[in-house]
Amino acid sequence: MKEEKVVIIGGVASGATAAAKVRRISPNAKIVMLEAGPDISFANCGLPYYISGDIKSRSKLILQSPESFNEQYNVEVHTHTLVATIDKEAHVVKTVDSRSGEQRTFEYTKLILAQGGRPIKPELPGADQDHVFTLWTLEDMDKISNFLEDHKPQTAVVVGGGFIGLEMVEALVKRGLTVNVVEMMPHVMAIMEAETAGFIENEMLSYGVGINTGASVVEIGSKTVGLDNGKVLNADMVILSIGVRPTLQLAKDAGLKVGEAGGLLVNEQLQTSDPDIYAAGDMVEIEHRVLGKKVRIPLAGPANRQGRIAAENALGGAHSYKGSIGTSVVRVFEAVAGTTGLSLKQARAAGIDADAVVVHKEHHTSYYPGSETVSTMLVYDRKSGVVLGGQAAGYKGADKRLDVIATATAAKLTVSDLADIDFAYSPPIGTANDAINMAAYTAENRMSGFSPSVTASELDEYFAGKNPVIIDVRDFFAFEKSHVEGALNIPLEILPQQLASIPANRPIAVYDETGKKGHQALRTLVGAGFRNVTNLSGGHTSLQRHARAIGFKTIKVGLLPIQPKSVEEEAEAVEKKVEVKAIDSNTPIVVDVRTPQEFAHGAYPKAINIPLDELQMRVDELGNPSRSITLYCASGARSAYGQRILQQLGFTNVSNGGGIMQMMLRR
Ligand SMILES: Cc1cc2nc3c(=O)[nH]c(=O)nc-3n(C[C@H](O)[C@H](O)[C@H](O)COP(=O)(O)OP(=O)(O)OC[C@H]3O[C@@H](n4cnc5c(N)ncnc54)[C@H](O)[C@@H]3O)c2cc1C
Repeated sequence: MKEEKVVIIGGVASGATAAAKVRRISPNAKIVMLEAGPDISFANCGLPYYISGDIKSRSKLILQSPESFNEQYNVEVHTHTLVATIDKEAHVVKTVDSRSGEQRTFEYTKLILAQGGRPIKPELPGADQDHVFTLWTLEDMDKISNFLEDHKPQTAVVVGGGFIGLEMVEALVKRGLTVNVVEMMPHVMAIMEAETAGFIENEMLSYGVGINTGASVVEIGSKTVGLDNGKVLNADMVILSIGVRPTLQLAKDAGLKVGEAGGLLVNEQLQTSDPDIYAAGDMVEIEHRVLGKKVRIPLAGPANRQGRIAAENALGGAHSYKGSIGTSVVRVFEAVAGTTGLSLKQARAAGIDADAVVVHKEHHTSYYPGSETVSTMLVYDRKSGVVLGGQAAGYKGADKRLDVIATATAAKLTVSDLADIDFAYSPPIGTANDAINMAAYTAENRMSGFSPSVTASELDEYFAGKNPVIIDVRDFFAFEKSHVEGALNIPLEILPQQLASIPANRPIAVYDETGKKGHQALRTLVGAGFRNVTNLSGGHTSLQRHARAIGFKTIKVGLLPIQPKSVEEEAEAVEKKVEVKAIDSNTPIVVDVRTPQEFAHGAYPKAINIPLDELQMRVDELGNPSRSITLYCASGARSAYGQRILQQLGFTNVSNGGGIMQMMLRR
């Protein structure tokens, strides 16, 4: 058997993976890895976290040195070695050492290209100045870190609201800078739905980040950045993060074919137009598993898997790369949001008859401390119910839901399949009806017509020319804080008594906080004979986020104020308790046993908030056991439980006031 000489160009994500895999397959192959830069196998995804200070040690980002790689895999590694030409006929590559200028020639039997891409640098006046950076390599990271140390900049502009841009926004805020982000598209994270992006934008606004969307940079000054809308932003430093261009010149010069999506053309075996040359990673274009179209997905997961497959096939394997569904996720401060497969707008733009639903649900049981809302969007084929993709957002648990949707998308499961899956549950981990199950039920209900709904992104189209009656079924407090202009406020609890006041001859759109009670309201209305009723999927939460990101054309929604946060506070994060001081220990009191978040939305006048799960621990705050105490919650269920707890603890005059609506009506 002839000895394989495998040369790999590029030594980071896909290159290093390919080299290791070649060695695992063949103990005898000669493997040479040629890397233009000074490092191999470094964690480029981790660079922003070193700049932020989250990762303290630079060496943690270097996963292998040339020496350790050689020791572990017997791979000849040459750094500072730029491959300048590929001679396909002679099966050789020629290199130049960037330090000494020395030229060398390496023979190969099989060549693997793993050259990645480079950040796009726009041709802008001022883009060449020393305080303007891109971030792709450890050297880029060092330059930014040194600039922060040496010049102590106070302000920064990040150009580009994609995931690297937003990670840099967070990093610079954590370094104490006042940061503005500029994004040409209507919202940050352009690949996500507006409402998912709105969740991220809310978080950035909380941390004081300036968001300039739908705007382009026209000029970079020494201390400012000028935008095409006339705005001038202060910028002691500028980060350009507007995308990645595949590194193709070498391949093009060698006569290898480039594909329709602008990446290097490879077949399913990741073989280029030359049978002895394979390629992987950011430089190639591959098939999108849902669209069936060639796309470029410059992400680490696909790059690593492709590196493995290219290695296997270069050594005679026949492993097909199935393509990618483009799962990506970003954490900005504490907010996490991700997308997989197709968004609703991408699916419809591709001519797919798609629909979507959104649910906002607690990531684990609400009664166990620390519960947070996780938002889940499922995008599916309207007729077959096959999952096409989706998005997830939240402070906790979003990644888990995103990965489930990714799995369902890759496996072409239907929403009914998802409805039937048992997910991990125990009170601190999940809920007996996981957010994914709920989203799947909601999708089934939309598909069958049992509960018609529209997402925030469909609203303008749905409302156009319809003049619907809009009913907000939340409580008075929530309504007062923000609602759709012109909406009637008929809280769910009193809806059955108010049916006569609703015009019967117009379409009706209902919404609540999350979509759940909206569904219940819809069923009440349909049961009462109303015919054309639609629930706003994701309720007011989705409306708010969409309105924050891009607004609506047909409706107006008052935006809720931003809750300021600071990195110092988060660093010291301690569970805050609302300190409750009973006025005196004998007068009657009203206790709201809902969560602090629900309480903050609006509460019974002078009520104190002791969440149900804290009631037993905080019983001292209630004063005399014979005191008159009225408990209430959202529906009366938690307060009934609270009443029993207090009675068992010896309180003799405790009543259950029921839900907040009943309390307010009784006033
Ligand atoms: C700051 C940052 C954060 C990121 N975060 C994430 C994330 O959270 N999640 C995610 O999925 N992805 C993330 N990515 C993207 C991910 O890192 C890339 O998709 C992945 O590294 C691509 O791997 P690759 O092997 O194709 O290219 P690279 O890792 O870029 O490696 C290509 C290498 O080839 C070398 N090379 C090019 N031409 C030559 C030549 N002619 N001769 C010799 N050597 C050459 C280059 O010097 C380079 O080192 C991030 C990227 C960056 C920069």
